[in-house]
Amino acid sequence: MSQTSRENGPAQDEPVRGLIFNIQKFSLHDGSGIRTLVFLKGCPLTCQWCANPEGQSYAPELACRPDKCIGTSECDRCVKVCEVDAIRLGEDGRVEISRELCTDCGKCVDACPSKALELFGTWMSVDELIRVVEEDSSFYARSGGGVTLSGGEPLAQTDFVLAFLEKARARGLDTTLETSGLGKWEDLEQVCRLVNHVFFDIKILDPAKHEEGAGVGNERILQNISKLSETFPDLPVTVRTPVVPGFNDAPEDIRAIADFLDRLPGLRVEYELLPYHRLGESKYSQLGKTYPLEGLEPPPKEHIDDLRQLLDR
Ligand code: SF4
Ligand code: SF4
Repeated sequence: MSQTSRENGPAQDEPVRGLIFNIQKFSLHDGSGIRTLVFLKGCPLTCQWCANPEGQSYAPELACRPDKCIGTSECDRCVKVCEVDAIRLGEDGRVEISRELCTDCGKCVDACPSKALELFGTWMSVDELIRVVEEDSSFYARSGGGVTLSGGEPLAQTDFVLAFLEKARARGLDTTLETSGLGKWEDLEQVCRLVNHVFFDIKILDPAKHEEGAGVGNERILQNISKLSETFPDLPVTVRTPVVPGFNDAPEDIRAIADFLDRLPGLRVEYELLPYHRLGESKYSQLGKTYPLEGLEPPPKEHIDDLRQLLDR
């Protein structure tokens, strides 16, 4: 999804709205059956391996793909509409964005004929999102699917998430949450009352290493999964670990997480390993950011198989 938004979010007396950076339809992962994935903007973590860097900030964000630009000798529409002179000519004749000047207003996105410019982040009301999600209701009914809220971190927009989930449940939709686990327990608790399934990330148990890789410690995340276990013993939870070479791919890192999960009371938990991949790498340069793990190769399949076997013992 790449709709333009020039709005700054809802005013106080308006219905709650959510800032969404992608809606992916017909997903066969992230929950049962055929699903619609809704990606909400804003995340308190800054994982070095993040495949959705456009989900980290809490505001709309301009992305630029110079390879799609037809060149400022042919077209300078974006330059003309930008009121703060944030668009300049690159050495190859295509546009570059001065990030220190750009206000992410989105005016250049509407002006660009070649879709070289895109604004990540569209404000949507609950009813607008329900309408989009329900376009595929017949597929959910046949496959046992539904809607999965992801991000970013959905708990960063709890008011919107709760309002959406209440309406979705009232309309019979199956609901799933994907969370980093970092948010207020009170928020997570309320959201868990309105979902059929939770995907919960645990990256590593060591708090110092967690802070190194994800930008924040993991104390609250571990507290939250413990409380989740006590409070919702019947809620299906899938814990997932992104396996990142040099960060958490040692057998003892994975074993430690599995042992921690074994000690949790009551949780109906499955544990999955997700191999690190580089699919989000190109988005960093589009956003004017540097990819933190440049040159890091995904782990060999055999190594992931060995780690999975370790969990079977
Ligand atoms: S999004 Fe940035 S570059 Fe584009 S018109 Fe607005 S300020 Fe200029
Ligand atoms: S409007 Fe689009 S195609 Fe034209 S110069 Fe700007 S980025 Fe390039």
